[in-house]
Amino acid sequence: MQSIMRALGISMLIWGFTTALNVAQAKELKNVGAVILLYHHVADNTPRSTSVTPAEFAEHLAFIKENYVVFPLQDIVEAAKRNTPLPDNALAITFDDGYNNIYEHAHPLLTKYGFPYTVFINPSVIGVQSNQLTWDTVKTMHKEGVTFANHTLDHLHMLEKNAGENEQQWLSRVWKNVTDAEAQITAQIGESLKYLAYPFGEYNEALANKLQEQGYIGFGQHSGAVGPFSNLSAIPRFPAAGPYAKLSTLKTKMASFAMPVVNVSLTDPALTSAQIPQPVTVTLDEKVAKQLRIAQVTCFYQGDTLPVTVENNRFSFEINTALPVGRSRVNCTAPSSTMSGRYFWYSTPFFRADKNGKYPD
Ligand SMILES: [Zn+2]
Repeated sequence: MQSIMRALGISMLIWGFTTALNVAQAKELKNVGAVILLYHHVADNTPRSTSVTPAEFAEHLAFIKENYVVFPLQDIVEAAKRNTPLPDNALAITFDDGYNNIYEHAHPLLTKYGFPYTVFINPSVIGVQSNQLTWDTVKTMHKEGVTFANHTLDHLHMLEKNAGENEQQWLSRVWKNVTDAEAQITAQIGESLKYLAYPFGEYNEALANKLQEQGYIGFGQHSGAVGPFSNLSAIPRFPAAGPYAKLSTLKTKMASFAMPVVNVSLTDPALTSAQIPQPVTVTLDEKVAKQLRIAQVTCFYQGDTLPVTVENNRFSFEINTALPVGRSRVNCTAPSSTMSGRYFWYSTPFFRADKNGKYPD
């Protein structure tokens, strides 16, 4: 415990230090984006797609200890919000779903390293499902410096409408789910960050707008770094489990910067047809865009490279296949023009319901 408190103290110190040096050493301390890692299970016997083994997790943390400065999630959000500097190796660690194996297998290691971290929980199942944390454990961890935030009451597919529900009824139902979950977290641990991690990473424009209007920060499950140009209603996180657990590929993601996106032609990631309005054009901040080699931007979709056109500080991609039901995403990267081996990263998710309006798990 003390080691976490100590680490929090140290990172606050570094934070204060970097802020104080902002003017004098701005060149070294650009806020080009921090990376947020997303974990679920830390166990040997849970579904592989959402798990890292305790051994893999230990390997990740040892690498992070050597190469990164781990900040509380709140510091990274505040830096993005206020455009204040962060070291270019800033990183935060998050978990979704509140599994008990986080306490069993991850917490002791994170405590040993003194790394702060955040768990997004579903209050309806805490202490109810046998693989979940209990409120007692949540309180213990919270006292030891762990941050808890909102993952909705019950992990619903937020984009699904009930039979006969109109847009307004849908939004007020799902929003009540969020505020009820927030109220339970506040009642149990006295903390209300107003941070929502969308279950399955699924959101649409209306929901993102609602979060912004209500002073909430939203977290997705599409990849990318977070910086001053990020959409704070859908902050990207790099999944670090299952197929993404391999340190060799995770390393490149940890080293990524946030693409300075100021506009995207496609504003709603929830699509009602299999055809994406073509092309999707991404406009970058003119000044910051000089820090990356935009002519070398590459966009990936389901293992393929997409046709891309570049014009000044914007690039466009086209997807010429039908959008699948469920979740899919485009990832675009461009090399940094000043730091070799480091990439600027942009990702946009797509969500499409099946013919009954359902979203698969
Ligand atoms: Zn989840």
